[in-house]
Parts: sequence; C-alpha cells; structure tokens
Amino acid sequence: MEQFTITTPHKTYPVVIGKGLRHQLLELLKKEFSAYVIVTDSQIAPLYLEDVKKALMSKPKVYSYVVPSGEASKDFDTYKRLIDYMVELNLDRQCCVIALGGGVVGDLAGFVAASFLRGVAFVQMPTTLLAHDSSLGGKVGINHDLGKNLIGAFYHPEAVIYDTETLSSLPEKEWRSGLAEVVKHGIIDSKALYDKMRQLLPERQAISVEVMASILKEAMMVKANIVAQDETESGVRKFLNFGHTLGHALEKESGYGALTHGEGVAIGMIFALKLSERVYHHSLPIEEITDWLGRLGLPTSIPKGLDKAKLVQTMKYDKKRTDGQIVFVLLKAIGEPKTQAVPEDLIIEVLEDFHE
Ligand code: NAD
Ligand code: ZN
Repeated sequence: MEQFTITTPHKTYPVVIGKGLRHQLLELLKKEFSAYVIVTDSQIAPLYLEDVKKALMSKPKVYSYVVPSGEASKDFDTYKRLIDYMVELNLDRQCCVIALGGGVVGDLAGFVAASFLRGVAFVQMPTTLLAHDSSLGGKVGINHDLGKNLIGAFYHPEAVIYDTETLSSLPEKEWRSGLAEVVKHGIIDSKALYDKMRQLLPERQAISVEVMASILKEAMMVKANIVAQDETESGVRKFLNFGHTLGHALEKESGYGALTHGEGVAIGMIFALKLSERVYHHSLPIEEITDWLGRLGLPTSIPKGLDKAKLVQTMKYDKKRTDGQIVFVLLKAIGEPKTQAVPEDLIIEVLEDFHE
C-alpha cells in the first residue's frame, strides 16, 4: 500500500493507493457519516459496486446511483437526477458521496457533493489511470452544451482511495490514454522522476499492477505538490497543461472520440518539445520521449487529414491565450516547465514539420 497526504490551503487529505482497497473502504475512512451514496457508471457497477457496498455492510444507510458510462453523463440532466435522488432520500449534511469510477464519475459526483446542501463530504475512488490526475486537485464539474467543464467548483474530497486492482479491467484504449498523463507528470517534475518512469514503464505489456501503484504514487505526488502551491491555477498549476494546448485542439478537430484525451496529449507533448527547442535554442530528448510514448502504444504524430491552419485557429480560442499569441507550456529542460507565448508563424512552421 502506498500513501501520502495532500495539503492545500483549504483541505488536507490522504491519498491511499494499493491492491484491493475497495474491500477496506470502511477502515480507510476515518470519519463516520450519516449515510453513504455510491455514485458509479454502468460499466463499473457490474464489476465493483457490490464489493464497495459489502465494505459498507455494517452501515445502515448505503445507497447507490448508476449513471450511463461515458462523457455524456457529465451533463445537467444527470446532475439533476442525482440531486433529485438525494433530496428524495432526505439526506442530511453529514452524508458522504462516494465517487467510484473514472474522471466522469469523479467530476460529476464531486460537483453534486459540492453543491448538495451547500456541500457534503465526498470520497474519490478512482478506477481509471486518467483518474490518478482527475481525482486530485479539487476540480469538479459538469459540461455545458457549449463547452466542457463550464460549470463546476473547486472542492476537495475527504480522501482518495485508489484500488489498483480495478485497473485490470480497464479497456486498452483507456489504459493508454491515462498513461500519457502519467508520462506528463514525469516530464514536468524532474530528471530523476523522468528517468525512473522511463525505466519502470518500458512497454504496455510489461507493466504490472504493483509497479503501477508505485508509479501512480509518484505521478500523483507531482500533481499534489503543484496543487498545494497553486490551488486555483494562477501560477504553477498551469504547468499541468503541458501537451494540452495542441492536445485539446487535436481532440476537437479529430471529432471528439476519434482521439482520446491522452492520445491528444501525447502528440501535444512532442509538439511542445519541438517548439521548446526552437524557442530556447537547446536540445531536448525528443527522440527518446517519442520512442517511449510509441512503445506505450500512444500516437506520436499528427494524424493525416487534419488541417494545420484549423488547428492553429482552435488553439487561438484556447483559454490560455494572451495578446493574440498562443500560450504554451514549454520545457527549458526535463523537469523545468515554463509558460511561454509563441508567435503564430513559428507554431505553423513547427506544425508543418510534424507530419505522420
Ligand atoms: P471515464 O470516467 O469516462 O472512464 C473511461 C471509460 O472506462 C468509461 O467507459 C468507464 O465506464 C470505463 N471504466 C472506468 N473504470 C473502469 C474499470 N476499472 N474497468 C472497466 N471499465 C472502466 O473517463 P476518464 O478518462 O477516467 O475521465 C475523463 C474525464 O475526466 C473527462 O470528463 C475530463 O474532463 C475529466 N478530467 C477531470 C480532471 C480534473 O482535474 N477534475 C482532470 C482531467 C480530466
Ligand atoms: Zn489532461
């Protein structure tokens, strides 16, 4: 079992990572609650919901709510139905929401917890690799028809309880997608962590659940340290967007779903590295990282058929834009990220060189 504590200006809470932790939920939760509402999705429920219910068996009020699997559940309708369900149960402020799932369930259930009766306790039980990222840091929310994550709050859980056993059933595509963010945390933190991760994550078939637990702890501590310094993204938290400026544009322009978030980020990180070399005039281990991401099963170049001018246009509307220039997180060296406005002609030039 791996464990550490995250401290933010608003809350200090434990992050526990290990095999089979869903069976020990009650012992890991130090506090008592008046009722427990487990929120999960239709793909996870048949696999793990009974185990979590069983872990809470000694408690009188344990309820569960299953939303359809997928991003579409992060919407107003699902949010309302879940709130309706809790209002009808007549729950009080001492209840606890348990988010059993990936980023979708975590964001949705977290926002329900943040807003129900002006805020009740919640626990993150991540079941995807990507959720090593989304379960930490307190960003919770839902989507609006006009954009992702437009409605939400900063609201921290009581604890993050990460049962690595649940990762064994994760579909291949989701596994890969989450790995990209793990690699990102390695690259932005330090040369030592980058080297360690590269050694421990050689290729996807070779990664055991045990090794994954220690890697996840490292990656989560990177995020925890950044969030501790900058809860609301006014400074260093922006570094977590490494690879995301082009990544988001790729996700959008390829039509959501064709490229996963992590796949977009993988390509975006390589692009950001290429841009960094041009802006800072020094060399970075681009080939090494490209090779690494490729062996992890991630794409390493812009898919054919995507219009480069359109990608630039989309990046321009990214919320990190200042003065008409597009702001990227670049690297001065491994472990040394920096936010940097980059002129459009240089972006186009580097994009032109970045074919499949
Ligand atoms: P997800 O929650 O949709 O899970 C991916 C798929 O895997 C779903 O179909 C789910 O049913 C299935 N699944 C989950 N766990 C499983 C398991 N153990 N076994 C089998 N199937 C399983 O997606 P995600 O990638 O975890 O999260 C994406 C969401 O996270 C996005 O909405 C994104 O906006 C959000 N996000 C939030 C933050 C944050 O800081 N709050 C950060 C990054 C991403
Ligand atoms: Zn991301």
